[in-house]
Amino acid sequence: MRSCRFTRGGREAYGVVEGTTVRALSAAPWLGGLPEGPALPLADLELLAPTLPGKVVAVGRNYRAHAAEQGAEVPKEPLLFLKPSSAVIGPGAAIVLPEASKLVHHESELAAVIGRTLTRAGTAAEARAAIFGWTCLNDVTARDIQRAEGHFTRAKSFDTFCPIGPVVETALDPLDLTVSCRVNGEQRQRGTTRDMVYDPFLLVAFISQVMTLYPGDVVTTGTPEGVGPLKRGDWVEVEISGIGVLKNPVA
Ligand code: ZN
Repeated sequence: MRSCRFTRGGREAYGVVEGTTVRALSAAPWLGGLPEGPALPLADLELLAPTLPGKVVAVGRNYRAHAAEQGAEVPKEPLLFLKPSSAVIGPGAAIVLPEASKLVHHESELAAVIGRTLTRAGTAAEARAAIFGWTCLNDVTARDIQRAEGHFTRAKSFDTFCPIGPVVETALDPLDLTVSCRVNGEQRQRGTTRDMVYDPFLLVAFISQVMTLYPGDVVTTGTPEGVGPLKRGDWVEVEISGIGVLKNPVA
């Protein structure tokens, strides 16, 4: 199943994508939303971020080659940080470069959307059962601020710094996906989730030891090597095999 959120005629709804059409859902699919109304042409809809997360939990340096390009060791335990829900935007919405930064980077990432409340998962299998599906996420980062401060909060949290979408795909093996990034059509990143240090199920289980994950929350799993700068007027695309392309302009 592929789910989305969209707006049409001033109304926002979750939907299920069926080929080139979308049917609205009565609620989020992870809350048991059911199809209602006619099939709408996908091309006529403005897609929104496919979830409204209470929180986005992210991990630093989860691919060896990316840790190396940042001159950092692979962490001995997952290195967690948060991105605020206020940073979330959908496909096609502009990433706005803040005045405070001179170096904003893209980070293409595979993200899990949580389907069931999860507290202190004992096993990766328990975590797997709580995941609804998978989507693309761009962990936009003010790299100069991150380097200057050490702390991640300001660097990772500017409004519009968390594009998510275009859809959530449920039938997918997250352990063997290609994660890539293009800027203005030119390839910048291309990695495989096989190179993750901690796989997504271990990450979700680990995070749930710290904080309860709620339906709709997002866990993003780190970026492969090849991060690089964004400038005004760019178009940045995050593509993950089996999910699709998350494309955003930079303003
Ligand atoms: Zn990241």
